[in-house]
Amino acid sequence: MTPLLSGESPVETMHALGKLLGVELLVKRDDLLPFPLAGNKARKLASEYAAMKELPSLVITNGAINSNHCRTMAMMAARVGIGAHCVLHGSVRSSSDRVSIEMLRSLGATIEIVEPSLIAERIQEAVDRATNAGGSAHVIAGGCHTPAGAVAYRDIGVREFDEHRPDVVIVPSGTGATHGGLAAAAAHSASSPRVIGVSIARDRYRGIPPVREAAAWAGAPDAPIEFLDAYRDGGYGLWTDATAQGLDVAWRYGLPVDQTYTAKAFVALQDLARSGDIASGSRVLFWHTGGLWNYVAVER
Ligand SMILES: *Cc1c(COP(=O)(O)O)cnc(C)c1O
Repeated sequence: MTPLLSGESPVETMHALGKLLGVELLVKRDDLLPFPLAGNKARKLASEYAAMKELPSLVITNGAINSNHCRTMAMMAARVGIGAHCVLHGSVRSSSDRVSIEMLRSLGATIEIVEPSLIAERIQEAVDRATNAGGSAHVIAGGCHTPAGAVAYRDIGVREFDEHRPDVVIVPSGTGATHGGLAAAAAHSASSPRVIGVSIARDRYRGIPPVREAAAWAGAPDAPIEFLDAYRDGGYGLWTDATAQGLDVAWRYGLPVDQTYTAKAFVALQDLARSGDIASGSRVLFWHTGGLWNYVAVER
């Protein structure tokens, strides 16, 4: 199979914003990974597809209506010519929700919208339908929280850490595969930076175990996990002025962050730089995971 990710996203130096924060600021632009503006999901899913020994006739996953993961899985399925089925939860309320659904339909994906308690059984029913019809199905965990996803982040992490030698890495942490992969990368890289995951939803009790799991998948079960849960600002997809103010600063300096993911990590960076937890003059790599679609989808 031809690789679904060709080329690599850039690492950019942001002098003006770095000066404001008192650090040397580098940004890994995974927000620039290919359409559909899905950021880290493109990297995780390209790795997931590449790890399949043979292509199934159908890929199945679950996520929210507006999930970056679901549309990216569907986009890649369309590209390689197989079916995609998304078991979605939530309700279609806004015009951007309708755009998300329409995009999945345009990509040829089939969808169903169910109560969260029914997700597992609906996935199993979709697997059964595919196999009863003589096909094969591959189920991808929500958010692509999978070994292949974590390994993809370990591999690119090692490469960027060795080349750019950051002291500190900041990354939004959701399902944990990106953070866990980068923590494993630090363990495998000569520069071994401190990797700080900024939770966008889960508290530390729920959030740390899946990050550890992902680090173990990526070959570093004992990697130190630094997980900040003080920047969730209300929980998944919610925010207050705290996140909105950080977002304004970042955009003003040319760093396009979103309210759901990357602005929360940016607010953490601002705080850590201000408090001296990240020493002044440190070389900081802000790992931009995407989210422009989420920014656009906010009702105004
Ligand atoms: C899914 C997502 C994340 C979180 O990544 P995980 O690997 O699930 O922790 C961060 N940023 C954006 C834009 C995402 O879509």
